[in-house]
Amino acid sequence: KAKEEGRNRFMFFDHSIQESINKRLQIETDLRLAIVRDEFELHYQPKYNTDYKLVGYEGLIRWPHPAKGLISPAEFIPVCEETNLILPIGYWVIDVACQRLLMWQQDSTKQHLTIAINISNIQFKQKDFVEQFKIRTRGYESIIHKLEFELTESLLMKDIQDSIEKMQQLNKLGIRFALDDFGTGYSSLSYLKNLPLSALKIDQSFVRDMLIDSNDAAIVKTVIALAKTLNLQVIAEGVENNKQATMLKHLGCDLFQGYYFGRPSLIDDTKDE
Ligand code: C2E
Ligand code: MG
Ligand code: MG
Ligand code: MG
Repeated sequence: KAKEEGRNRFMFFDHSIQESINKRLQIETDLRLAIVRDEFELHYQPKYNTDYKLVGYEGLIRWPHPAKGLISPAEFIPVCEETNLILPIGYWVIDVACQRLLMWQQDSTKQHLTIAINISNIQFKQKDFVEQFKIRTRGYESIIHKLEFELTESLLMKDIQDSIEKMQQLNKLGIRFALDDFGTGYSSLSYLKNLPLSALKIDQSFVRDMLIDSNDAAIVKTVIALAKTLNLQVIAEGVENNKQATMLKHLGCDLFQGYYFGRPSLIDDTKDE
């Protein structure tokens, strides 16, 4: 009996592992096809300043899967990272953002706008990332200063000296850096001042509950104060209503991003907005 149960348990275990392996392999195969077929889209979410003027966008990748519908980056970015497919996809994102900035440069109503993109730690940690970036952005030199990289704490903490060097080299080319999801990572504060950052992004989990949870409100206040002390811009993400926006503005937050201001979407540049 015990043996039988054991065998059943084993078979069940085996089966579920097999299933998840198949699923993973299927996503991987689909991802490779998606790259070849150019299936990805870059959607743009607006960022506003305290005068509620548009200052730029964050580019967020979308994968409209031909059979499964829209797959969220939270689902496929980890697979991209495990398979190194994040490298071609990451360079695709850089290229699309640069093309857009170059287009806007011709338009006096849009040439001030910035685009921030998320850079995966796998990509940033490549030995030749800065070299590759230079090669792949030839012809875009005039707009590189409008491009911003969003990096995460865990990324930068991993070999911090390497991070600083790469950031300095990219900084010289005109790239600015924002620390994404700030407050959720290890946050050794002493390293912050050594990084050539231009902005901190308050993680949306703190913004979401700041009006009902005094701990979250305290964290938001602290991050804003810290940013001021370090001379960094501070961006709130996940702003969903007017009350949050008003409170954040009152606390000294510089920039706002969230559904209240606009959802990520494709921008049609052939139309006037
Ligand atoms: P993130 O960089 O922190 O991006 C913010 C996420 O919050 C986005 O989710 C955005 O759609 C969502 N969001 C914005 N405003 C609101 C709001 O008011 N309420 C709520 N509930 N959510 C809001 P998304 O697009 O699903 O992206 C998730 C994560 O995937 C991103 O987090 C980023 O880490 C990663 N990601 C997205 N695009 C790329 C990319 O092109 N490359 C890489 N490497 N990672 C990406
Ligand atoms: Mg981001
Ligand atoms: Mg974030
Ligand atoms: Mg995030």
